[in-house]
Amino acid sequence: MSTRQKQIAEIVRQDGPITGEHIAARLHVTRAALRSDLAILVMGGILDARPKVGYYYTGKNTLGMLMEEISAIRVKDLQSIPVVISQDKSAYEAMVTMFLEDVGTLFVIDEAGLLCGVLSRKDLLKAALNNGDPREIPLVLAMTPLSKIIMAEPDESVAAAARRLIDNEIDCLPVVKAVDNGKQRSFEVVGRITKTNFTRLLVDLAEGKGGNYHK
Ligand code: ADP
Repeated sequence: MSTRQKQIAEIVRQDGPITGEHIAARLHVTRAALRSDLAILVMGGILDARPKVGYYYTGKNTLGMLMEEISAIRVKDLQSIPVVISQDKSAYEAMVTMFLEDVGTLFVIDEAGLLCGVLSRKDLLKAALNNGDPREIPLVLAMTPLSKIIMAEPDESVAAAARRLIDNEIDCLPVVKAVDNGKQRSFEVVGRITKTNFTRLLVDLAEGKGGNYHK
């Protein structure tokens, strides 16, 4: 919002409903000079106008609108393609996969293709420091096991997923679909959501491209 638009919004918030003429008088400008700013504020949903009543404040501020826009975006609209590795590989093979696929986190899958672990860069560094030759270390010894994995679901809001990343101090969440196979809960990995996805979302929102995410 421009300074002028902020001034208008503030006048209407305090004294609305108020006519365009009265707003113009308060700002010592002509009604015509405010036409485009008023149109922008109405289009943006910050003000509303009723004939014979004037402008009134909708109660939304730009931050509220931004939050509303973010809350409407689902995990599946933001997620990237997951990079997986099978559980029988070595720490060395996991390192190579990270370089080739250019990711910082791998999802480990079992013979059935279901999620059984998460492997981060630091997990591999730690394993290499403690044990020497990474070719000799099974990656399962280095990974975080299924019972501790924090996940996201395709239809939940990205705001909830972002909070989970921050609260757990991790870089990446597997996006999963639960598979029902008797007593144990299993998960198929359908995506991954990372801090990079959120940084890109922030850039896109700032550049007015938030609509790309509403599918
Ligand atoms: P890095 O190790 O590259 O800093 P993270 O901060 O994401 O990456 O990982 C820190 C620790 O948290 C690692 O032990 C990793 O296995 C674990 N971790 C990463 N992602 C998850 C997740 N979604 N759920 C549970 N643990 C995770």
